[in-house]
Amino acid sequence: MDRKFLDRVTEIIDKERVFTDEPMSRHTTFRIGGPADCFVCPETVDEVQKVVRLCNEMDMPFYLLGNGSNLLVGDKGFRGVIVRLYKQMDKIEVSGTKIRAQAGALLVKVASEACRNGLTGLEFAGGIPGTLGGAVVMNAGAYGGEMKNVLEEVTVLTREGELLTLSKEELELGYRTSIVGRRGYIALEAVLQLEKKDAKEIREYMNELREKRTTKQPLEYASAGSTFKRPEGHFAGQLIEQAGLRGFRVGDAQVSEKHCGFLINRGNATAEDVVELMREVTVKVEEKFGVTLEPEVKKLGEF
Ligand SMILES: Cc1cc2nc3c(=O)[nH]c(=O)nc-3n(C[C@H](O)[C@H](O)[C@H](O)COP(=O)(O)OP(=O)(O)OC[C@H]3O[C@@H](n4cnc5c(N)ncnc54)[C@H](O)[C@@H]3O)c2cc1C
Repeated sequence: MDRKFLDRVTEIIDKERVFTDEPMSRHTTFRIGGPADCFVCPETVDEVQKVVRLCNEMDMPFYLLGNGSNLLVGDKGFRGVIVRLYKQMDKIEVSGTKIRAQAGALLVKVASEACRNGLTGLEFAGGIPGTLGGAVVMNAGAYGGEMKNVLEEVTVLTREGELLTLSKEELELGYRTSIVGRRGYIALEAVLQLEKKDAKEIREYMNELREKRTTKQPLEYASAGSTFKRPEGHFAGQLIEQAGLRGFRVGDAQVSEKHCGFLINRGNATAEDVVELMREVTVKVEEKFGVTLEPEVKKLGEF
């Protein structure tokens, strides 16, 4: 990593929160990924803004990371700076039926805070292991709910370092997409609009959904959740299963036997294994059903 860049970045961010050659396998739920040249953990909006400006000034590629739960990082890692918004910048404030939370807050924490305050609308998010920032970018959803239904506004930083507040309409939320992801904005904070309901009823429903996840999903293995998007009129997992691929393996990457929509890491899978498995699954499903599977998981870095 460029020495000049490191000197400058440690003037912005305390050196205890700046890492070099940081293995990305430590920061993705797939437990896969080579080293990032530089990995920084800002604690304030001001720090994020300054790091982004520095990267622009020094022509340094940068990438925003939440909890890495929808990410496949290449075995050779990432040449540039990972800016991680998770564990820091995780404040959650409840006021009436609104929740204002920072992008680094875990979605499950926001959902449980909503429940504690008798606020309904976020029960679906109880088992999604990402940050609020990642959930905005992906318009995360489950069990008939999605971020689109609860988001009121999101404050972002543009790639050029300008702060903007986007309304629900301006966010252009669609199936696993938003303008935040398309434009490469950095989500900093979101306001959610929820409704009052009995906390006990909310808790019961959340427990029911958690139970469903535990019985249906291979949570005992590292993965990035559903690897493919739901193709129009189908379920990816069902197509993969009907193509005879349950348990199909490349190295230590495998189509889960429990839920074929999940590709899992059985322990020592490489990004190359996962990419090859994704390719084989896509080809076989296309041959059998004429349906093209599109990855939901984002790829990053050198493979
Ligand atoms: C076991 C399991 C179950 C899952 N179940 C679901 C589910 O039911 N529904 C669902 O929708 N998803 C699910 N997922 C996928 C994943 O949890 C979601 O997509 C989540 O929203 C990703 O958040 P993250 O913080 O981990 O994002 P990351 O994986 O870190 O990043 C994902 C994308 O968002 C970008 N990003 C992250 N934070 C920011 C930010 N602050 N500003 C700008 N860009 C940012 C990244 O650059 C990247 O492009 C599951 C994953 C796992 C492992």
